[in-house]
Amino acid sequence: MNNEKEGLLMDRKKKTPLRLCLGCRVHKDKKDLIRVVRTPEGEVELDATGRKAGRGAYICSDVTCLKRAVKGKVLEKSLKNSIPQEVVARLVEKMKDVP
Ligand SMILES: [Zn+2]
Repeated sequence: MNNEKEGLLMDRKKKTPLRLCLGCRVHKDKKDLIRVVRTPEGEVELDATGRKAGRGAYICSDVTCLKRAVKGKVLEKSLKNSIPQEVVARLVEKMKDVP
């Protein structure tokens, strides 16, 4: 019998993946956030599936957070790329759909 080892295993807990919203700087559940990705081709686009290759950044489904992240250039800095106005517009549209 090795009770010490069993105790260590019991302490392990699975954690849900948390991602940082660039707008409000709060860590949230990945599924509550929208992913923006800079593709290997250098394009910035929305990632609805969360599976696109490239450097990703996360934002709440909240226009306030988006505006804050864009205005403060946090999003640009995070993706090391400028964010096309068109992408911002599409993000806003997407966020409007969320109740
Ligand atoms: Zn946020």
